[in-house]
Amino acid sequence: MERENAWKRYTKEDLEKLERINLGYREFLDTGKTERECVAKTIKLANEAGYQNLADLIKRGESLKAGDKVYLAYMGKSIVLFHIGTNPIEQGMNILGAHIDSPRIDIKQNPLYEDTELVYLDTHYYGGIKKYQWVTIPLAIHGVVVKKDGTVLNIVIGEEENDPVVFISDLLIHLAQTQLEKKGAKVVEGEDLNVIIGNIPLKEEEKDAVKKNIIRLMKEKYNFEEEDFISAELEVVPAGKAREAGIDRSMIMAYGQDDRSCAYTSLIAMLNKKEVETTACVLLVDKEEIGSVGATGMQSKFFENTLAELLDRMGIYSELTLRRVLANSKMLSSDVSAAFDPTYASVFEKKNAAYFSKGIVINKFTGSRGKSGSNDANAEYIGEIRRIFDEYHVAYQTAELGKVDQGGGGTIAYIMALYGMNVIDSGVAVLNMHAPYEVVSKADLYEAVKAYEAFLSE
Ligand code: MN
Ligand code: MN
Repeated sequence: MERENAWKRYTKEDLEKLERINLGYREFLDTGKTERECVAKTIKLANEAGYQNLADLIKRGESLKAGDKVYLAYMGKSIVLFHIGTNPIEQGMNILGAHIDSPRIDIKQNPLYEDTELVYLDTHYYGGIKKYQWVTIPLAIHGVVVKKDGTVLNIVIGEEENDPVVFISDLLIHLAQTQLEKKGAKVVEGEDLNVIIGNIPLKEEEKDAVKKNIIRLMKEKYNFEEEDFISAELEVVPAGKAREAGIDRSMIMAYGQDDRSCAYTSLIAMLNKKEVETTACVLLVDKEEIGSVGATGMQSKFFENTLAELLDRMGIYSELTLRRVLANSKMLSSDVSAAFDPTYASVFEKKNAAYFSKGIVINKFTGSRGKSGSNDANAEYIGEIRRIFDEYHVAYQTAELGKVDQGGGGTIAYIMALYGMNVIDSGVAVLNMHAPYEVVSKADLYEAVKAYEAFLSE
């Protein structure tokens, strides 16, 4: 079952659409490097597309009907969008769900220290990373600092052309003989991901003079005190913009494409829909990379609560209606797959691998070993998805995440399946997944939008 390279069949019109989508995607990546930034950007795009804030409607006691479009953000880190269809919602919704958190390096609560007149921020990494990839590259700091009085300072350092960047040092090759004998996982250890942020001392100070100067600068620029780190969420991410990659410009290289390549494509498929028969829903959630935990992760009840609020506004809320809507819904868990990498071919099984430019990837199993932790979508449901994708001329392929005993990974699919709904993982293939700069094919991004639009049209 060989699949064709999607570029081969594109018309001029396809190529124009493809480039437009990828331009918007790069912009989304540049302005959304954290879950909070992605939610803010989503709200902006949703407002422009005529969506209303469900929280406002609840406050005003307004009701909802077919054709209405609403969103509800949760703690600024997750967001749900609904487009109410003409069919009874009890028959179920079409749901697209992606995550907007990405692997990164978080700043600790008590991070600031000086050693030998260099000032550092101590960190704790978030999600699965190869730590040695994060040293010696330009890094930016994104996030919020919440003062005791509730004031929120939004911070972005390292993205403007004239901004300074920060970085993590690595041992020079000349002295690295012992280091290079270590295993890959130990070459750079978690506790050594210390971000260097300064070296100029305050003239009149003896002890910790560089640190005091940094504190002075932060106070001046941001009204930020050292104690404020306690209630800050600062994320260290690769600095700089998303770029086209390849001399033929066939790919996008950027930070955070797991899973923003699926989040963006799901979102614009939703926003592009003028009308729907089946109620459409897009879920963009936090914390997937650390097990979907916390109030803003998929294991939280926020989605169920939001749906209950929606049904209440529609005047049809009951516990039974809520259960029926959930159980009758169908979902594409929009999450990325590992792209086949010929340089590391031995970890893949070639017949069941995802390839660049062969379209959106359907993944029946995620999980690991004997399918532990997998979602294992039903054959009946996959049959339906095949029909939809073929009907709408979507290029698609099926894959597993590497060889059977080689490793594994999870998504939010199994959590949504707990409601008794049909769910399958489907998303964009990524090279260098979880590295500071990941790569996707522009064609796959285009096919993902087509696939998600087709799914919401059913
Ligand atoms: Mn993912
Ligand atoms: Mn991931």
